[in-house]
Amino acid sequence: MKKPLSIQTLAVSAGSHGDSQHGGRATPIFTSSAYDYEKEVRYPRYFNTPNQSAVVAKMAALEHAEDGLVFSTGMAAIMTSLFAVLKTGDHVVLQNDLYGGTHHATLNEFARYGIQHTLVDGSYPENFEKAITKNTRVLYIETPSNPLLKITDIGAVAKIAKKYRLITMIDNTFASPVNQNPIDLGIDVVLHSGTKYIGGHSDLMCGFALSSKKIISQIKGSAMHFGGVLDASTCYLVERSLKTMVLRVQQQNANAMTLAKFLQSEKGIDRVYYPGLSDHPNYRVAKKQMTGGFGGMMSFDVKKDPEGFMKRLTLIHKAVSLGGVESTICSSVRTSHAKLTPAERAKAGISDNLLRFSVGIEGVDDLISDIRKALKS
Ligand SMILES: *Cc1c(COP(=O)(O)O)cnc(C)c1O
Repeated sequence: MKKPLSIQTLAVSAGSHGDSQHGGRATPIFTSSAYDYEKEVRYPRYFNTPNQSAVVAKMAALEHAEDGLVFSTGMAAIMTSLFAVLKTGDHVVLQNDLYGGTHHATLNEFARYGIQHTLVDGSYPENFEKAITKNTRVLYIETPSNPLLKITDIGAVAKIAKKYRLITMIDNTFASPVNQNPIDLGIDVVLHSGTKYIGGHSDLMCGFALSSKKIISQIKGSAMHFGGVLDASTCYLVERSLKTMVLRVQQQNANAMTLAKFLQSEKGIDRVYYPGLSDHPNYRVAKKQMTGGFGGMMSFDVKKDPEGFMKRLTLIHKAVSLGGVESTICSSVRTSHAKLTPAERAKAGISDNLLRFSVGIEGVDDLISDIRKALKS
């Protein structure tokens, strides 16, 4: 059997087709919205232009998927995929600590279309099985989760879904394809907010759905109606970003592991949430399924004055979003979970002093000094 290519090689070479006219190495940017229809009816909203195909081929190779679609945002990928397989009367089981946008969409949009849902604690796979009804169509997970980095056992959920012939979807944004490949564990549809680690430079938005040819053709049918496509110039930037994604994410993995251990040893810090720490409640599951590393996302409770602490940081910037080359930090209470009541936040385990940290690719010693200084004063 031929040895499969490494992820480093695929990130560079898969999908990119170069410039056959002039012999250039980079995929040219094809901006046409009008194409000759003799061979194939091409149109940007049909998800079949050269830059869309090139970036999808690369991502599909990295996620071990047969096929995929590139969208204008992560939410476009998530909602289009869900609405493509669900109809009125169907039921979805989702884990309860979802990305805020997905959580609000399930509460607000699904109800209006008569789609029912149940939210369960994803730390225990049996919760998904208990929530299944005769109308259930989809099991939806997100691991590691935001902001407490909880871990869902991907293989265990996929196994339950197979028993009941359900479709599984995962939001793989936090792990990136470098650290976790859910299709190998039996998941049907892998979703990404490419705005984060895939773009990697905090300067573009995109989303991906990756799956079998059969499911992608079903999602594409709806996607052409919803219209959340990505333009050629941004596809080009995403393709360019993907070539260095492995290097970026590996540095973020290494920095995050060092920082998590450092923060654990600091007196000014109460608790550190990082799946790579051996005292994380689901460390063994994380180690089994996150084959590339534990990622660049973590959160921690500062003992006092979270706002003052963030203000005193000089290298780590206060910002929402995540996954960029630069380290950013934000208060969950002030951002993603601002709309929850204090009681709801307490129930979710999110304290007022919780800070979510997206670790960048800077020198880790500089980041440690920055945090030390900010804790001291
Ligand atoms: C950002 C994010 C999304 C939404 O992606 P957009 O590109 O902002 O639409 C979905 N899931 C997770 C985990 C995210 O971090």
